[in-house]
Order: sequence, then C-alpha cells, then structure tokens
Amino acid sequence: MVVITAYGGVNEIGGNKILVDNGDTKIFLDFGMSFSRTGQYYEEFLGPRTNNYLRDLLEMEVVPKLDGIYRQDMVYIQGVEDKLPERAQKYCSLYKAGVKSYDEYAKETGRPFVDGVVLSHGHADHFQHIPLLGCEIPIHCTPITATLLQAVSDVSKGGIEQEFLKYKGRELSTMGDKSTFPGEPTIKPADCKFRTINRDLQFKIGSMKVELLPVDHSVLGARFTLIDTNSGGTIAYTGDIRFHGRYRNLTRKAVDELKGCDIDVLITEGTRIDEDVSKDELKVEEEIGKAFQGVKGLAIVGFGWKDVTRYETMVKVARQMERTLVISPKLAYLLHLLKEQKPLELPTPEDSDLVSVYLPRKGSMLYSKSDYTYAKHALGYSVDWKEGEIRTEHYENGVRAYDLRENPSRYILHLDFYEFNELIDINPPPGSAYISASTEPFSEEMEIDEQRLNNWLRHFKLLGESESVVHIHASGHASGTELIEMIQEISPRVVIPVHVEEKNLHIFRKRLDSSIEVMLPEVGKPMSCWVQSKP
Ligand SMILES: [Zn+2]
Repeated sequence: MVVITAYGGVNEIGGNKILVDNGDTKIFLDFGMSFSRTGQYYEEFLGPRTNNYLRDLLEMEVVPKLDGIYRQDMVYIQGVEDKLPERAQKYCSLYKAGVKSYDEYAKETGRPFVDGVVLSHGHADHFQHIPLLGCEIPIHCTPITATLLQAVSDVSKGGIEQEFLKYKGRELSTMGDKSTFPGEPTIKPADCKFRTINRDLQFKIGSMKVELLPVDHSVLGARFTLIDTNSGGTIAYTGDIRFHGRYRNLTRKAVDELKGCDIDVLITEGTRIDEDVSKDELKVEEEIGKAFQGVKGLAIVGFGWKDVTRYETMVKVARQMERTLVISPKLAYLLHLLKEQKPLELPTPEDSDLVSVYLPRKGSMLYSKSDYTYAKHALGYSVDWKEGEIRTEHYENGVRAYDLRENPSRYILHLDFYEFNELIDINPPPGSAYISASTEPFSEEMEIDEQRLNNWLRHFKLLGESESVVHIHASGHASGTELIEMIQEISPRVVIPVHVEEKNLHIFRKRLDSSIEVMLPEVGKPMSCWVQSKP
C-alpha cells in the first residue's frame, strides 16, 4: 500500500512538501518554504533565531513536526543543557526541538525515516527548507536545479537559509583566552558536511523507480516526476508547469509520455486553475519591445535573476533595439555556472557584445576591488577566491552607474526592485522608462512592495504622480483549461491538487470527468489513495 501525505502546498501556493511512502521506502517530493505560513509570523525584521532556527519554526508550525528528518545540530546539541543555569535546565524546550533528529531516529530504528528528496525545480517554495534536513538524506534534482542551488548560496551573504549543498554543523564550545569572557560556553561552527546531490534523470530510491521528465516553467531545469512505486502503481507529480513558455514543447512531450504510463495518482499544481488564458512569452517580447519603442533615455526592465527564459526574451528585445543589455551580476554569475555545465544557446556577457554586466558600488562605495569581498560574484565569475586566481571581469568590463548616465540610449538595464538603491547612483535622465516583467502582486505583502516600487519610480520620474507601474509578464503556471486538458489526457485514477488556493479547489471536481477521483489533501493527513492497476 502506498500512502501520500502532504505537509505543505495544501490550500496554498507553494511550500510543497509531499511524502510518498510505499511501506519500505519514503521520499519527499520537494521540501519548499511556505511563504504564506512564514508570513503569518515573520517579516523582514523578525525572523527565526540562528541558534534556535528549527526549534522556532517548529513551534510556529512553519515546518512539520516529524521525527527522523532534521539535522542533529538544529534539534539538539550534545551537552548544552548542562551549560544552562540550573533553573533553566528543566525547561527542555529551550534546547530540544521535541522531535528526533535524522541521526537519533536512524540509530533507534536501524534505518532512516526518509530515503531521499526529489526536487521538481529551483524555486524557493519548492526547495528553501532543505537546509534544515540531515545531510545524509540524498537530494535528487536536475544538474540545472543543482546549479541554481549553488548560485543562490554563492550570491548570498551566507547563513542557515543558504546551506543547500553543504553546512557547518554547530557544536558546543568555550570562549578562548583572548575573549572578554574566557571559558564561557558558546556555540561554534563544526566540520563542514556535504549533502549528496544526485543529478541523474532516472534513478532508484530504495524500492521506487523515479524518472524526471523535462517541462517548461519560469526557471530552467524544471521536471515532471514519475514514480514507479513498486507496489503495483504509478504516481506522477507535475511540480510547476506551463504550456505557453518558450519551451512549451517540453511540457507537451512529457504529457504525451505520461499518457501511455497508466498513471494511478497524479499530484498536480493548480496555481491558475481559476484562469483561462495564458499570455505567451513571445507576446511578452513583442509588448516589451513596443513599450520601449519611443524611449530616448534609459530603458529599464525588472525581472527575477533566476528567470533565464525572461533573460532570453530581453536579449531579443535588446538586439531589435540595437542596445546593450546590462544585466545584474547575479544573473551573469548564474549564466556563467550554467555555461560551465553545458554550452548555452544564448549570448552571455562572456561571449557577446550584446550583453554586459552592471557593476554596483559596494562596501566603501569607492569602486575599490576590495569592496566586493562579501559580493564576490559582483566583481567577476570566480567566487572561490584563491591566491593568484582572482578574476575581476565585471570590474574591468562592467557597466557602472556613470556609464549609464553618460549614454543612457545605448542600454537596456536589468534592475529588479530589490536593487533599486542603484537608481540613486544612476539617476535616470528624462525620457527613461521602467517596465516590470514580473508578476502582478497577488498577496497583501506583494501589494505593499508594489506601492514601494511605485514610490521609487515616481521619485525618479519614471512614472507620473498618478501612474502605476506597467507589468508585462507571462506566468510560470498553466491556465485552468490547460491543466484540466492535461489531467484528462493523462487520465489518472486519482488527482491530488496541491499548490492551489483553497477557494479554487472545487474547480477540479467541477471540471473533471467523474471517472477521475479528486482527493483534497489536508496538512499531515495520510491519504491511502492506492488503487489496483486499471482494468
Ligand atoms: Zn515554481
């Protein structure tokens, strides 16, 4: 018997954590962060505490209370209770998480609780809680998704949130002789532990056979997951998919392949189940081109740095306009890593005059090479600085704020909202324009950010006082009509909708043939949706 339990992605967009258990093997499909649950308690200036990280998240029910999955150093550090003041020692929630760590569980039962995590793609709502997991749990994903994880940690300032590929476990220590309080207990980083990242596209986890089929989404490397559970049935999981991007033929091909696979259970995303039209990526290219047509000054476009297909669109717009596309150093670094893996069929700053890298001021704000110690990717492509091997391409060839000021009509600048401090240095001249090539806001927090974005744009006269930013965007998600057609084509026995708002769940039952059973997941509730093979 196979049991499926969703610990995230239930009645919400994102945060997918779906456990599939066939009795002798357990795997998680994604282990993402739920932005809605996190946002219920946390914001920019209030987050979980570094040395109590997991314990804080467990208490606030942001992550599931499960034995056997979490890192030992986040659950409990050996010996800490003896170091607490005596009266505090009886309050064990101060130092114990109330769940068994991966190690404790495996030692007690003689086997791990979970045998692997299969990542569908490189978006935070699908991978962001991996840093909490025991490093012994293998992570399975495409080479591109692994590269995205590496890029995300390399361009960040570090910290628990970025410990995807490796981490330094924390251990009890004492302050050294030269400290203010020698001999006092403290927590320090221990030896580095490396996660096992499996980049194969067909593999076995315990008794389950898994295959990853390429699909189109708003990051490269996204996959449909097909699982032969070895108990007489097959499960397919969409991850996030679309049928209207540049690589829509991939999703089409995956669906065609699944049609012949006799799928018993289809776990599907339903982000846009209530919408019927999808804007095409080619339309995005055309509309942005038109919007920038009469722009005499600097043309500025905002989009997420991980969205390489949107980059491709902007390269085409730049070519048409005969302008140089100036991209963020994060995107340049990601393209560099992707190229190392496989030649890209895209011009990049490394091989084309069509694209350059923006060099932001950092540190002392003097454009000194030493300013980039904590943002190495902004200086050049080599993030591991070793003596004599420091590469500083962006420093030598990059485009600085004053280059844009002097020749605004030569460039299209990629500048996302989070980089808006650069507008102060650039001070776009009259006749400049900003387009947001990102999604319209769909939550209260995003509305607040949108207000801020408009305020910045109005301040720099990129918008009139009563105007709002223009969004030109194609969603990363299939429309309702496309999803329903896909489900009918694959024709599974059971459909489990995830990554969808509660108010839209009824649409699945309403629009699907009655021969397909729709099972609505509840958080942490096992679903024994197993069925015998089809007649
Ligand atoms: Zn996604």
